[in-house]
Parts: sequence; C-alpha cells; structure tokens
Amino acid sequence: MPSAIPHPASRPTDANLLRGRTTLGDFELTFCSDGTYLLDGGAMFGVVPKTLWQKRTPADAENRILLGLNTTIIRTGHATVLIETGVGNKQSEKMRQIHHNQELLPASLAAAGIRPEEITHVINTHLHFDHCGWNTTLHPDGSVTPTFRNARYFAHRGEVEHGHLQLDRDKVSYLSPNYDPLIASGQMTLLDDESIRRDPTIVQGISVELFPGHTAHMMGIHIRSTGPHSTERHACYIGDLIPTAHHVDPTWVMGYDLDPLTCIAERKRFLARAIPEQWLVLFPHDHHTPAATLSLNEKGKPIASPALTL
Ligand SMILES: [Zn+2]
Repeated sequence: MPSAIPHPASRPTDANLLRGRTTLGDFELTFCSDGTYLLDGGAMFGVVPKTLWQKRTPADAENRILLGLNTTIIRTGHATVLIETGVGNKQSEKMRQIHHNQELLPASLAAAGIRPEEITHVINTHLHFDHCGWNTTLHPDGSVTPTFRNARYFAHRGEVEHGHLQLDRDKVSYLSPNYDPLIASGQMTLLDDESIRRDPTIVQGISVELFPGHTAHMMGIHIRSTGPHSTERHACYIGDLIPTAHHVDPTWVMGYDLDPLTCIAERKRFLARAIPEQWLVLFPHDHHTPAATLSLNEKGKPIASPALTL
C-alpha cells in the first residue's frame, strides 16, 4: 500500500461506503462506490506537467494517484436507474495488485439500502473495465451471471465493436465478460448514433448524449427532474470526458484519451451549457467530490464547487 496516499476505503464503514445522497427535483440521487484504485498520475493528466497537477492531487512514491469508482443510483418514482458499475470482481491478480481496487460496490449498495434486484436500468457511459465491471459477477466455479438480474442494460454498440477489435492501444481496458453475456442473453440494449438521435431517452427524465474523445462513442447521462416548485433541475454524469473535479480545465485531458483534441472541444461544448445552467456535474473517478457545480474564476478558468459534504 503506498504510504503518501490515504486509503479511505481500505477499512470500509457505512460512512465511506455510502458516498452521498441528494434530491434533484422529484428524483433521489444516491452516490455509491466500488471503492478506490490507483492510476499513474502522468497518465491521468496527459501533457500537463507534474509540477502543476501534483498541487491538486498528490502522487505516491510510485507516481500513482488515488481515484474513486463512482456509481450513481437514481430513484425516479417509476424506475431505479444505476449509472456505471465500477471495476467488479473479474480482475486478474496482477491487475488487482497494480490498481489496489477493493470490489466494494455490493457492500456500498447494501449500505445505501439498495437491493440489486430493485435496479430496473443500468447505463454504462462506455465499456472500459472500470465502468462496467459489476455488470456481471464472477463466481468461484468460473460462471458469470448478471449482477442486476431485473435490469435492462444500455451501452453503445460502437464501444462493444471497438472492444472486440482488441487493439494493441487499449485491449487491456475491454473485458468481454462484462458485456458479451448480457448481449447474448438479450438483456443489454445496444444504442447507436442513429437511435440516440431519434430518441435519447432511457426512462422519463434520463437520457444519453454522445461526448466523444475519450473513446469514439462515450456517452454522458442527463438527469432532469421538475420538483414541487416547477423549476427543472439538471444533473449530468459526464463519464470520462471529465473524470474528476481536477480535470475541469478543458486542456487538462488524459493520456488515456484516444482523441485529445476532440476531448478539448467536447469539454468546451459541455461547459458552455453546464456552467450557465448550473448543472450538478457527476464525476466518475473523484472519490472525494462525486458531485459539483461549476463556475468560472476571476481568470475565466472553470472551477468545481463540491455539492455534497462527505
Ligand atoms: Zn474510460
């Protein structure tokens, strides 16, 4: 275990398993977590010099930084929608040693009082291993079953096709047991650009939008609800377009991004709406700030203000 980094999830308690809860209009939003993991700080900040990024997030002796694995559950009153399923339990021993992940999502859901069988919809922004790991559960006998047996799963067809190519650049990120069994059984609906253009709605108040760059078909998830005072509130789970609150500067893109120039353009397009409309922005990998509102500082740079006290 690295010494320079606190490891808040290493001794899980209900307090750090349930990452937060809030309301958005008529919807209840619950923030759960598959725990934390460690990734190389340089890879997380691309061409940004360490002298700049380490002021925001410290690295350990091996240059790794602590990241979260955030799952958002939305109870709309008619549906219980779960966004992202963490790393899961299918990692090889070697990968577990590299990432120090803890496989906590089932315990986190239990701490939040959410039963896997009550989930009606699961949405994956994309199919990297750290976003869809608990789509399915690996059992000791080697079998793989859906973790959310009553849910309909949604992912983009382009992600599945890209994962199946097993390209040298990113084949380690795509583990087919996270999605192939669900596609084979018909439990996963594959969206494509045309179907999203036609109708981006998953359930009333929850819809998807393409935000390419990190991958060619990554989707953000919009959550909109009008509460008792008739004002619509808007949250957006932005996926790896903006992985943490430290990445809100449009140019602070990741080494992992397949198309950094598109990422920068898409971040600007996102910020041009999220800031003036005061969206609640939900980050996939910020353990300490799963939700924030964004504004511009005196230099005109975007900054994140945490929306929950953890
Ligand atoms: Zn990713």
